[in-house]
Amino acid sequence: MTLNWLQPAQRIAVLPPYVFARLDELKARVREQGVDLIDLGMGNPDGPTPAPVVEAAHRAIADSGTHGYPPFEGTASFRRAITDWYARRYDVQLDPGKEALPLLGSKEGITHLAMAFINPGDLVLVPTPAYPAHFRGPAIAGGDIYPLHLKPDNGWLIDFDAIPEDIARRAKALFFNYPNNPTAATAPRQLFEAAVEFAHRHQVLLVHDLCYAELAFDGYQPTSLLEIPGGKEIGVEFHTLSKTYNMAGWRVGFVVGNAQVIQGLRTLKTNLDYGIFAALQRAAETALSLPDRYLEEVQQRYSSRRDFLIDEFASLGWSVDRPRATMYLWVPCPSHLNSTDFAVSILEKTGVVVTPGNAFGPGGEGYIRVSLIADLDRLGEAMERLRQQGFRLT
Ligand SMILES: *Cc1c(COP(=O)(O)O)cnc(C)c1O
Repeated sequence: MTLNWLQPAQRIAVLPPYVFARLDELKARVREQGVDLIDLGMGNPDGPTPAPVVEAAHRAIADSGTHGYPPFEGTASFRRAITDWYARRYDVQLDPGKEALPLLGSKEGITHLAMAFINPGDLVLVPTPAYPAHFRGPAIAGGDIYPLHLKPDNGWLIDFDAIPEDIARRAKALFFNYPNNPTAATAPRQLFEAAVEFAHRHQVLLVHDLCYAELAFDGYQPTSLLEIPGGKEIGVEFHTLSKTYNMAGWRVGFVVGNAQVIQGLRTLKTNLDYGIFAALQRAAETALSLPDRYLEEVQQRYSSRRDFLIDEFASLGWSVDRPRATMYLWVPCPSHLNSTDFAVSILEKTGVVVTPGNAFGPGGEGYIRVSLIADLDRLGEAMERLRQQGFRLT
């Protein structure tokens, strides 16, 4: 029965249409035709969670001490594991009681942070393209979004000098993310210094998403906002275990940084959820203390897929940038096609799923995002199908 009198709340009605929905329908249709889909659309890692983490979870689940409601603010020992990791990794000292908060995945935290700090009409700076939660979270909160257009000739970096003075003065927060999804761009330390300078000058809260902290290649080490002098005072940083540790289904992330901001998010979440199952928090501690050997394996896996696909694209006339981090390639569309039409055409003709760039906002138009989430055999099969269907950049 359709309830004609029932309208969703304004905060849902304002959301831009979800490009993924159309693609999902099409995927289902292609799959029904018996096509063997190769899904390089999502950012969903293809490997299993590392065995020591799974074993730690087994042991923790068998312990009835984990079965009750976990503490709202996360277990003390997971919070300690987070701040120890920060000290080791970035030489940044954090108070595990006030400056770290476990999350049910970072997406949850990003959206709730917006709800905890953004009022209807508040101005929020968000790059385009961006990870959808970065603009949907503020939109759900009723914020007005001012798009910062990222451009290839500027390496997809935010240009702080291009932000008009009156916009900078009105802005309450900036959501940003390097290494970047979807463009796979990495930012030099100077970008973070510019962000901190901008934020202090205009009193803007910095919300940085560092979910690809560990998926970096060729010796590159992504920068943490909190490493920058003044960064911790004016910002927070989000992390996830989903990508690095193949734990997307476990829903474990965390946020660190300014205690006042963390407190606001915690107050909201206290009214919404009880946080992560305590057994999974124990397993997450194991993940954060895995030996570097594990990380090197993961990095090696993604970088060899990256190199393989870039060579394959080159043989079809495509020149694709070689990213130093993330699990994506950001691939230009042929000039006569927009990103949705191009992604749909690839899917219909080859059964290969990619994400149209405009799913990440208007700034993503003209590109598709290809996720490195299949082994070399499957990636080779995907590229062979493109070749057979005559896909070329020109
Ligand atoms: C995958 C991803 C996330 C989401 O991670 P979860 O912790 O699984 O919610 C957040 N931000 C970016 C940029 C991502 O690519």
